[in-house]
Parts: sequence; C-alpha cells; structure tokens
Amino acid sequence: MFEGFEDEESMPTYLTVEEAGDILAGHTMLPQRPLRRNPSARNIERSNDRVPEFLEAVRAVTAALPQENLTEGDRISRIAELERTKSALAAAQTRETWALEQQVITRHHEESKYAANPNYGVGSEVALAKMEAPTKGSEFLGFSRDMLSFMPCTFAALQLGTINEKMAKIIVSETKNLDPFDRELLDAEFMDDPESFQGVGLNDLTDRVKRVVLAVDNTDQMDRHAKALHDRHIRFWQTPDRAAMRFSGELPIEKGVILKQALQRETDKKRDKDDRRTNMQVAADTLVDRAAGLQPCEKSPVNVTLIMTDRTLFQGDSEPAYLSGYGVISAEYARYLISGGDRKESQVQIWIRRLFTAPTTGELIALDSKARRFPDKLKQLVAMRDQYCRTPYCTAPIKHFDHVYQAARGGESSLENCDGRCQRCNNTKEIDGWEERVLEGPRHTIEIKTPSGQIYRSTAPPLPGSDDPDKRPLDTT
Ligand SMILES: [Zn+2]
Repeated sequence: MFEGFEDEESMPTYLTVEEAGDILAGHTMLPQRPLRRNPSARNIERSNDRVPEFLEAVRAVTAALPQENLTEGDRISRIAELERTKSALAAAQTRETWALEQQVITRHHEESKYAANPNYGVGSEVALAKMEAPTKGSEFLGFSRDMLSFMPCTFAALQLGTINEKMAKIIVSETKNLDPFDRELLDAEFMDDPESFQGVGLNDLTDRVKRVVLAVDNTDQMDRHAKALHDRHIRFWQTPDRAAMRFSGELPIEKGVILKQALQRETDKKRDKDDRRTNMQVAADTLVDRAAGLQPCEKSPVNVTLIMTDRTLFQGDSEPAYLSGYGVISAEYARYLISGGDRKESQVQIWIRRLFTAPTTGELIALDSKARRFPDKLKQLVAMRDQYCRTPYCTAPIKHFDHVYQAARGGESSLENCDGRCQRCNNTKEIDGWEERVLEGPRHTIEIKTPSGQIYRSTAPPLPGSDDPDKRPLDTT
C-alpha cells in the first residue's frame, strides 16, 4: 500500500545559520529534493496556498540546525525556544481548525445540509489530519472554538509561547461552565501577566483557574456536591487478562480525602519498620484488611486541613478555600464542611484545622492548633504553603522537606529555608552544580540555578487571601 511513496534521504543536511535564515526569509529556495506525498492527495484540487512550502522550510531548517561549537547553555536555550515554537504552531493549528469549522458551516448552510448539526464531520476530519482518534478531533475542535471565541488573551499567550498547549487546554476547559461574558473577563484578568505562569505545573494551574472560576460563579457547586454524595459508589471489574480484580468508585470530596489520608498514614508508618512492600501494596492491603474486618482497626481521628480566609469563614465571602489532599473548593462547600457536612452519617471524627492567611499576600500566618512539636508543625506549614513539589512545573506530591540552601553550606532550618519536594526532585537537587536560594518577596520564592547555568524561579501557589494571586510576586524593579 505504500508503493506510491518516494524515498527521501533520511540523514539531515546541516545548514549554516545564514543559510537557514535566508531560506526562512524566502531569499533562497530549499535544495530541491523529492517530498513524501500520498499519491491520492495529488489528485485533489490544486491549491494556491504557499504556506505548506514555508512550513516545509521550517521543518528543513529545524532538522538542519548547526551542531558545532555549542555550549550546554546554548542547547538548553534552543530546547526552550523550540518549545515556544511548538506552542506557536499549536496556536496556529487552533486558528485553522476554528476557521475550517466556520467554512464548513457556511458551506453546509448554502447547500441546505445538516441544519441540526452544521459542523458535521469537521471533528473527524481534523482528527485524521492530526493523526488522532475521532473523539480527540472533536475535543480539539471544541478547544479551538472556545479559545478563539471567548479567550483571546489565552490564545495570544499560546502564540507567544508563554503557555503551552496543555496549559491552554486546562484554562479553556476549566472555564467552560462560565457564561461568555464572565469567561472573557476572566481571560483578560488571568492572562494580564502571562509571565506569572513561569514554573506553574499543570495541577497547580488547574487549582489557580478553579479558584478564580469559583470566586466568580459557584451557583451550581452545592448541587453538584449533593449529587456526588447521592451517587457515591464502588464497582468491581475483572481485569482484561482475567488475572486480577479491579475496582473503581466515586466518593464525595471529604470522604475521598479521609480515605486517602488514612491510607497515606499507613504507608508512612511502614517506613518505620523493615517492611519490603511498596507504598501501593501497603495501601491496597490496608484497604482490604480494614474494610473486610480482617485486622482490628484502631479509631483514629482524621485531620482535614482547610485553608481559608476569616472573611470566607465568618462573613459569607465567596473566595474559595483550599482543602489539603484535594485542592480548591468553593467557599460555600468549605462552610458546609465546617458546619459538620454530612457527619451525622459517618462514624469518623473529623477535625477541621483552620488556617488563616495574611490579608494581602496569602502567606500563612498561623495554625490554630498548639498540639504539635515544632518540626512537625513546620512541615505542616510548608506542606500547606507549597501544596506540591516546588520544582517548577513538577506538581508531584510532596515526599521530602529539605533545606532550600543546603544545611551543609550553612542554610538555616527555618520556615523560609524549607521547601517540599517529591522523591525524584529531592535527588536531582544533589547533582553537582545545582544551586538554590530563597528570594525576598511577599510570597515564598526560590531561585534555582541548573548545572547548565539557567535560572528558574518557583513561587508558592497563591493561597486564599492573596489579593492579586496570579501577579508576579516579586518586585523586580
Ligand atoms: Zn518534583
């Protein structure tokens, strides 16, 4: 079936920077060589579009980037620039997709076809062009349409490469229930300073968008929570190879958090013993032993940590709260949990630990518990402040608390000089030439210098109470 394809030299030919620039500027033509083409595509109507040739030039130039005399820093800069170029290309692809939909709708209208479904077939065709499954094509079509119609600032940020396609998709999908007017307002406000997305990982970004969305509109949130409570369930399945049993379920948020925390506590205990099971194995064993009553279960209280402002707690403010172990929840739901939630049904005693945040910066100011020794209390504060591993873009769960500026070099054991890291990032920090320090600023920020000499910053996520949560936290003047 591939006999119609022509062979192509597979080894790249390296160009000089000047040659590459000339080709991209259109001053020089690419060296002639046969292109791979599907023979059936040749019979399609002749196109006047010159852009494919230009894009072919981009491909040829990127395949032939000069490779001599580059430092590690040069290569990292190239990788970063290529990533930004990918974002710009993704933006261009959304614009073509949206425009295609408009054209198809117009044509169907003129031909009096598919009145009930005027964009019929566009998603499937986009999927084929993108080498994806049909449902993915429709998803991409919806993403393109929503972004181009309601979120011009998000689109502009994608074009510039300050956010990537995954980030744009989160921003678009998390705002889809807002009315168009609110969505446009949020887009403008959220994208006011796209540079503030530096170092923000996907989980953290989802929380940040949710936080703004819930502050604008949480009208149906309580209905959804009530539905989740009503629809709670566990189901059992056979695995496809019939070698194991799988189960899945859905729980109201607070019940899910309690279960997650109880299993986490068992895996934490495990580290104290000479237990060779993995954390996942311990969690699975604990769940079965406890639920089936195979092991006596000591009754231990669960601490549900809720971070909120006193305005949200006492004055009916709409600013969302942060539920540790889950993420952002609406103010109303936070008040529902504090008032007792559906605790009457549950035998588990829930203690809610309230935290207050400083009125302008969202820095944590106090725990209202005096029960803990200092090291644990410090770790708790850092876990709540950082929420995820602090390596830029990581957002894996925190597994270690360590000194930002290493203790061996004289770094203090203080709240400022402590941060939360995942297992992998904690090891990465030990690489020769990897340096970190804390920067002055209203929100906790660390600066990371990598062995190739690049500088990155990581700022703790905005907590409830940050007046302007997504602005760059540092005064850079
Ligand atoms: Zn990490």
